[in-house]
Amino acid sequence: MARYIGPVCKLCRREGDKLFLKGDRCASGKCALDKREHPPGQHGRDRRFKRSEYGNQLREKQRIKRSYGMLESQFRNFYERAAQAKGITGEQLLTLLESRLDNIVYRIGFAPGRIAARMLITHRHIEVNGRTVDIPSYIMKPGDVVKVRERSRKMLMIHDAMKRVKEGRLVPYLELDKAKMEGRFLSYPAREDIPMRAREQMVVELYSK
Ligand code: SF4
Repeated sequence: MARYIGPVCKLCRREGDKLFLKGDRCASGKCALDKREHPPGQHGRDRRFKRSEYGNQLREKQRIKRSYGMLESQFRNFYERAAQAKGITGEQLLTLLESRLDNIVYRIGFAPGRIAARMLITHRHIEVNGRTVDIPSYIMKPGDVVKVRERSRKMLMIHDAMKRVKEGRLVPYLELDKAKMEGRFLSYPAREDIPMRAREQMVVELYSK
């Protein structure tokens, strides 16, 4: 399964935005973006150029794609699925991205970030509806139950991540029972419930060219 293995803070600097890829570090004073705001590379400090419409669409697509930790071909596949679904394509795309298992493991609080969530899943620490699932891109359906496996319940990383979650303060489409280390995907999320600052329409415009 292909994944990005380069320095992740560079991705945030490239997009000029915090993508929260490193869990706790992102909220601490150690965030690389707080220290160096300019994009990486030889011409990173050069702010003279004006970005074209295409450039803006490309950057927005890259920002969303990288926030969810995906590569181009995977992201494009999700877009094609969204385009075939009923409804507004951009919103369908975000709904699909939010329904990924790695995103849900992160949002529900079992992991401090999506990269860590992905690691938990591929290392077989997570169950969906009583069966171990090791595919981060697995799409959850309403009613599905996600749970930390019995043998993994003492993992420090999971406990630390869960300390930060307040049971009643999850996104509206998720439910968590902290004591059981178990959560439920209640429904496909509505756009207004997704806590993601994204101009998804720009992705649609880019891929429709
Ligand atoms: Fe991005 Fe987090 Fe690195 Fe800051 S610490 S640059 S938010 S990945």
